[in-house]
Amino acid sequence: MPFDPELDKAPELLARAARAAGSRPDLTQGGGGNVSVKIGAERMLVKASGSQLKDLTPRSGWALVNYGNIRRRIASGPGGEDEFSDYICSQALPVKGLRPARPSIETGFHALLSTVVIHTHSVYANILNMCEEGHRLGKELFPSAEFVPYRSPGPQLCSAINDRARSSGPQVFFLANHGLAVAHAGVDGALELNEKVNETIRRGLSLPPYPAPAAASGLSAHNAGRLAHYGARFMLEHVLSPDQALYCGPAELEGRCGPAENEVLAALFYILDCMAALKLTPRFLTRADVAYFDTMKSGRYSRK
Ligand SMILES: [Zn+2]
Repeated sequence: MPFDPELDKAPELLARAARAAGSRPDLTQGGGGNVSVKIGAERMLVKASGSQLKDLTPRSGWALVNYGNIRRRIASGPGGEDEFSDYICSQALPVKGLRPARPSIETGFHALLSTVVIHTHSVYANILNMCEEGHRLGKELFPSAEFVPYRSPGPQLCSAINDRARSSGPQVFFLANHGLAVAHAGVDGALELNEKVNETIRRGLSLPPYPAPAAASGLSAHNAGRLAHYGARFMLEHVLSPDQALYCGPAELEGRCGPAENEVLAALFYILDCMAALKLTPRFLTRADVAYFDTMKSGRYSRK
Protein backbone atom coordinates (compact mmCIF):
# COMPACT_ATOMS: atom_id res chain seq x y z
CA MET A 1 0.00 0.00 0.00
CA PRO A 2 1.41 3.44 -0.87
CA PHE A 3 2.37 5.81 1.92
CA ASP A 4 -0.58 8.03 2.85
CA PRO A 5 0.61 11.53 3.87
CA GLU A 6 -2.76 12.15 5.55
CA LEU A 7 -2.09 9.41 8.09
CA ASP A 8 1.40 10.37 9.20
CA LYS A 9 2.82 13.46 10.86
CA ALA A 10 6.18 13.24 9.04
CA PRO A 11 5.11 15.40 6.02
CA GLU A 12 4.04 18.16 8.43
CA LEU A 13 7.34 17.94 10.29
CA LEU A 14 9.31 17.96 7.04
CA ALA A 15 7.46 21.07 5.82
CA ARG A 16 8.14 22.85 9.11
CA ALA A 17 11.87 22.13 8.88
CA ALA A 18 11.91 23.19 5.21
CA ARG A 19 10.14 26.48 5.87
CA ALA A 20 12.47 27.37 8.73
CA ALA A 21 15.63 26.50 6.81
CA GLY A 22 14.43 27.69 3.40
CA SER A 23 12.99 31.12 4.09
CA ARG A 24 16.30 32.78 4.93
CA PRO A 25 18.65 33.75 2.09
CA ASP A 26 21.61 33.69 4.49
CA LEU A 27 20.96 29.95 4.95
CA THR A 28 19.70 28.80 1.55
CA GLN A 29 19.98 30.42 -1.84
CA GLY A 30 17.91 29.45 -4.90
CA GLY A 31 17.29 25.70 -4.99
CA GLY A 32 20.13 24.92 -2.57
CA GLY A 33 19.79 23.00 0.67
CA ASN A 34 17.52 20.16 1.64
CA VAL A 35 15.83 18.57 4.63
CA SER A 36 14.73 15.04 5.45
CA VAL A 37 12.73 13.13 8.05
CA LYS A 38 13.02 9.38 8.61
CA ILE A 39 10.17 7.09 9.62
CA GLY A 40 11.35 3.81 11.13
CA ALA A 41 14.21 1.81 9.66
CA GLU A 42 13.48 2.11 5.94
CA ARG A 43 11.42 5.13 4.88
CA MET A 44 12.64 8.71 4.57
CA LEU A 45 10.94 11.85 3.26
CA VAL A 46 13.41 14.14 1.50
CA LYS A 47 13.15 17.32 -0.55
CA ALA A 48 12.56 16.65 -4.23
CA SER A 49 15.11 17.61 -6.85
CA GLY A 50 14.28 20.82 -8.73
CA SER A 51 12.14 22.34 -5.98
CA GLN A 52 12.92 25.03 -3.44
CA LEU A 53 12.88 24.43 0.31
CA LYS A 54 10.61 27.37 0.98
CA ASP A 55 7.97 25.94 -1.40
CA LEU A 56 7.85 22.51 0.26
CA THR A 57 4.42 21.66 1.76
CA PRO A 58 3.03 18.49 3.39
CA ARG A 59 1.54 17.66 -0.04
CA SER A 60 4.29 18.69 -2.48
CA GLY A 61 8.00 19.21 -3.06
CA TRP A 62 9.28 15.98 -1.51
CA ALA A 63 9.91 12.35 -2.32
CA LEU A 64 9.73 9.17 -0.23
CA VAL A 65 12.68 6.76 -0.49
CA ASN A 66 13.89 3.53 1.06
CA TYR A 67 16.87 5.00 2.90
CA GLY A 68 17.84 1.63 4.40
CA ASN A 69 18.75 0.40 0.93
CA ILE A 70 20.58 3.64 0.11
CA ARG A 71 22.56 3.41 3.33
CA ARG A 72 23.56 -0.19 2.59
CA ARG A 73 24.49 0.75 -0.96
CA ILE A 74 26.83 3.53 0.24
CA ALA A 75 28.41 1.22 2.83
CA SER A 76 29.20 -1.35 0.13
CA GLY A 77 30.67 1.29 -2.24
CA PRO A 78 28.22 3.67 -3.92
CA GLY A 79 29.61 3.26 -7.45
CA GLY A 80 29.96 5.93 -10.15
CA GLU A 81 28.08 9.19 -10.46
CA ASP A 82 25.29 8.18 -12.87
CA GLU A 83 24.94 4.71 -11.43
CA PHE A 84 24.53 6.09 -7.89
CA SER A 85 22.08 8.76 -8.99
CA ASP A 86 20.00 6.12 -10.84
CA TYR A 87 20.09 3.93 -7.73
CA ILE A 88 18.75 6.72 -5.52
CA CYS A 89 15.93 7.39 -8.01
CA SER A 90 15.14 3.67 -8.10
CA GLN A 91 14.56 3.78 -4.34
CA ALA A 92 11.67 6.27 -4.61
CA LEU A 93 8.43 4.86 -3.18
CA PRO A 94 4.85 5.73 -4.18
CA VAL A 95 2.95 8.31 -2.13
CA LYS A 96 -0.85 8.47 -2.20
CA GLY A 97 -2.08 11.65 -3.88
CA LEU A 98 1.39 12.92 -4.79
CA ARG A 99 2.91 13.04 -8.24
CA PRO A 100 6.13 10.98 -8.41
CA ALA A 101 9.11 13.20 -7.58
CA ARG A 102 12.83 12.68 -8.04
CA PRO A 103 14.70 12.68 -4.72
CA SER A 104 17.39 15.36 -4.27
CA ILE A 105 20.88 14.48 -5.52
CA GLU A 106 22.00 14.89 -1.89
CA THR A 107 19.61 12.19 -0.58
CA GLY A 108 22.58 9.86 -0.09
CA PHE A 109 24.13 11.61 2.89
CA HIS A 110 20.74 12.24 4.53
CA ALA A 111 20.29 8.47 4.58
CA LEU A 112 23.41 8.07 6.73
CA LEU A 113 22.50 10.38 9.62
CA SER A 114 20.00 10.65 12.49
CA THR A 115 16.20 11.00 12.10
CA VAL A 116 16.00 14.65 11.00
CA VAL A 117 18.66 16.24 8.78
CA ILE A 118 18.86 19.91 7.82
CA HIS A 119 21.37 20.75 5.12
CA THR A 120 21.87 24.39 4.17
CA HIS A 121 24.38 26.53 2.33
CA SER A 122 24.70 28.80 5.37
CA VAL A 123 26.93 31.78 4.61
CA TYR A 124 28.22 31.72 8.21
CA ALA A 125 29.29 28.08 8.04
CA ASN A 126 30.62 28.69 4.54
CA ILE A 127 33.00 31.39 5.73
CA LEU A 128 34.67 28.61 7.70
CA ASN A 129 34.16 26.07 4.90
CA MET A 130 35.74 28.23 2.23
CA CYS A 131 38.96 29.50 3.79
CA GLU A 132 42.30 27.94 4.67
CA GLU A 133 41.96 28.86 8.34
CA GLY A 134 38.38 27.60 8.62
CA HIS A 135 39.04 24.12 9.92
CA ARG A 136 41.19 25.41 12.81
CA LEU A 137 38.74 28.20 13.68
CA GLY A 138 35.81 25.81 13.39
CA LYS A 139 37.40 23.25 15.71
CA GLU A 140 37.80 25.97 18.35
CA LEU A 141 34.11 26.90 18.11
CA PHE A 142 32.79 23.33 17.63
CA PRO A 143 35.18 20.76 19.10
CA SER A 144 32.88 17.81 18.38
CA ALA A 145 31.85 18.76 14.82
CA GLU A 146 33.04 16.91 11.74
CA PHE A 147 34.97 18.79 9.05
CA VAL A 148 34.77 17.05 5.69
CA PRO A 149 37.22 18.05 2.92
CA TYR A 150 35.71 19.11 -0.42
CA ARG A 151 34.08 16.33 -2.42
CA SER A 152 31.79 16.77 -5.41
CA PRO A 153 28.13 16.28 -4.43
CA GLY A 154 27.13 12.67 -5.09
CA PRO A 155 28.82 9.35 -4.31
CA GLN A 156 32.17 10.87 -3.28
CA LEU A 157 30.61 13.16 -0.69
CA CYS A 158 28.42 10.32 0.61
CA SER A 159 31.43 8.06 1.11
CA ALA A 160 33.31 10.81 2.96
CA ILE A 161 30.34 11.44 5.27
CA ASN A 162 29.75 7.71 5.74
CA ASP A 163 33.21 7.38 7.29
CA ARG A 164 32.15 9.67 10.15
CA ALA A 165 28.36 9.34 10.30
CA ARG A 166 26.42 8.11 13.31
CA SER A 167 22.92 6.86 12.56
CA SER A 168 21.55 8.32 15.81
CA GLY A 169 22.28 11.29 18.04
CA PRO A 170 23.04 14.92 17.17
CA GLN A 171 25.83 15.59 14.70
CA VAL A 172 27.22 18.65 12.93
CA PHE A 173 29.05 18.41 9.60
CA PHE A 174 30.96 21.23 7.98
CA LEU A 175 31.29 20.38 4.28
CA ALA A 176 34.23 22.22 2.72
CA ASN A 177 33.28 24.68 -0.06
CA HIS A 178 29.68 23.57 0.20
CA GLY A 179 27.61 23.90 3.37
CA LEU A 180 26.42 22.71 6.73
CA ALA A 181 24.49 19.58 7.71
CA VAL A 182 23.01 19.03 11.17
CA ALA A 183 21.28 15.87 12.30
CA HIS A 184 19.08 15.31 15.34
CA ALA A 185 16.43 12.91 16.63
CA GLY A 186 13.63 15.49 16.17
CA VAL A 187 12.70 18.55 14.09
CA ASP A 188 12.82 20.99 17.00
CA GLY A 189 16.19 19.70 18.10
CA ALA A 190 17.55 19.90 14.55
CA LEU A 191 16.29 23.46 14.04
CA GLU A 192 17.74 24.53 17.40
CA LEU A 193 21.08 22.92 16.63
CA ASN A 194 21.15 24.58 13.20
CA GLU A 195 20.39 27.97 14.73
CA LYS A 196 22.95 27.48 17.49
CA VAL A 197 25.73 26.68 15.01
CA ASN A 198 24.95 29.73 12.87
CA GLU A 199 24.63 32.02 15.90
CA THR A 200 27.89 30.76 17.40
CA ILE A 201 29.79 31.54 14.18
CA ARG A 202 28.10 34.94 13.82
CA ARG A 203 29.04 35.89 17.36
CA GLY A 204 32.41 34.14 17.38
CA LEU A 205 33.60 35.97 14.26
CA SER A 206 31.62 39.21 14.97
CA LEU A 207 30.02 39.02 11.53
CA PRO A 208 28.04 41.94 10.12
CA PRO A 209 24.27 41.65 9.43
CA TYR A 210 23.38 39.85 6.21
CA PRO A 211 22.20 42.26 3.48
CA ALA A 212 18.43 42.35 2.89
CA PRO A 213 17.43 40.29 -0.15
CA ALA A 214 16.23 42.13 -3.25
CA ALA A 215 14.00 40.20 -5.62
CA ALA A 216 15.34 41.19 -9.00
CA SER A 217 15.51 40.19 -12.57
CA GLY A 218 18.84 41.33 -13.78
CA LEU A 219 21.56 41.92 -11.22
CA SER A 220 20.35 43.52 -7.98
CA ALA A 221 21.90 46.91 -7.18
CA HIS A 222 23.78 45.32 -4.27
CA ASN A 223 25.23 42.55 -6.43
CA ALA A 224 26.11 44.94 -9.26
CA GLY A 225 28.06 47.03 -6.74
CA ARG A 226 29.96 44.06 -5.31
CA LEU A 227 30.61 42.69 -8.81
CA ALA A 228 32.15 46.04 -9.80
CA HIS A 229 34.40 45.75 -6.73
CA TYR A 230 35.64 42.18 -7.41
CA GLY A 231 35.39 42.19 -11.22
CA ALA A 232 33.62 39.64 -13.44
CA ARG A 233 36.90 38.07 -14.49
CA PHE A 234 37.90 37.38 -10.89
CA MET A 235 34.49 35.85 -10.14
CA LEU A 236 34.66 33.59 -13.20
CA GLU A 237 38.19 32.41 -12.43
CA HIS A 238 37.80 31.97 -8.67
CA VAL A 239 35.05 29.54 -7.82
CA LEU A 240 34.20 28.93 -4.17
CA SER A 241 31.28 26.50 -4.40
CA PRO A 242 29.18 24.19 -6.58
CA ASP A 243 26.44 26.85 -6.56
CA GLN A 244 28.87 29.39 -8.02
CA ALA A 245 30.06 26.91 -10.66
CA LEU A 246 26.49 26.11 -11.67
CA TYR A 247 24.67 29.44 -11.43
CA CYS A 248 27.19 32.28 -11.73
CA GLY A 249 28.55 32.01 -15.26
CA PRO A 250 29.24 34.80 -17.77
CA ALA A 251 25.55 35.20 -18.70
CA GLU A 252 24.45 35.67 -15.08
CA LEU A 253 27.27 38.13 -14.37
CA GLU A 254 26.15 40.12 -17.40
CA GLY A 255 22.74 40.43 -15.79
CA ARG A 256 20.80 37.56 -17.34
CA CYS A 257 19.68 36.26 -13.96
CA GLY A 258 16.72 36.05 -11.65
CA PRO A 259 16.12 35.95 -7.89
CA ALA A 260 17.83 32.56 -7.38
CA GLU A 261 21.10 33.61 -9.04
CA ASN A 262 21.00 36.93 -7.17
CA GLU A 263 20.69 35.00 -3.91
CA VAL A 264 23.70 32.84 -4.78
CA LEU A 265 25.75 35.91 -5.76
CA ALA A 266 24.78 37.88 -2.63
CA ALA A 267 25.93 34.92 -0.52
CA LEU A 268 29.26 34.70 -2.35
CA PHE A 269 29.93 38.41 -1.97
CA TYR A 270 29.04 38.30 1.75
CA ILE A 271 31.46 35.40 2.25
CA LEU A 272 34.24 37.12 0.28
CA ASP A 273 33.66 40.46 2.06
CA CYS A 274 33.72 38.80 5.51
CA MET A 275 36.86 36.84 4.68
CA ALA A 276 38.58 40.05 3.51
CA ALA A 277 37.57 41.91 6.69
CA LEU A 278 38.78 39.04 8.89
CA LYS A 279 41.98 38.58 6.85
CA LEU A 280 41.10 34.97 6.07
CA THR A 281 42.49 33.22 2.98
CA PRO A 282 39.80 32.03 0.54
CA ARG A 283 40.28 28.45 -0.66
CA PHE A 284 38.88 28.16 -4.19
CA LEU A 285 37.88 24.97 -6.00
CA THR A 286 40.50 23.44 -8.29
CA ARG A 287 40.05 23.51 -12.06
CA ALA A 288 39.21 19.81 -11.99
CA ASP A 289 36.55 20.39 -9.32
CA VAL A 290 34.99 23.14 -11.43
CA ALA A 291 35.18 21.10 -14.66
CA TYR A 292 33.04 18.42 -12.97
CA PHE A 293 30.11 20.84 -13.08
CA ASP A 294 30.48 21.54 -16.81
CA THR A 295 29.26 18.05 -17.59
CA MET A 296 26.62 18.32 -14.87
CA LYS A 297 25.18 21.56 -16.26
CA SER A 298 24.37 19.93 -19.58
CA GLY A 299 23.29 16.67 -18.00
CA ARG A 300 21.07 15.44 -15.27
CA TYR A 301 22.14 17.79 -12.50
CA SER A 302 19.25 20.09 -11.82
CA ARG A 303 18.91 22.54 -8.97
CA LYS A 304 19.17 20.63 -5.74
ZN1 LIG B 1 24.24 21.22 -0.70
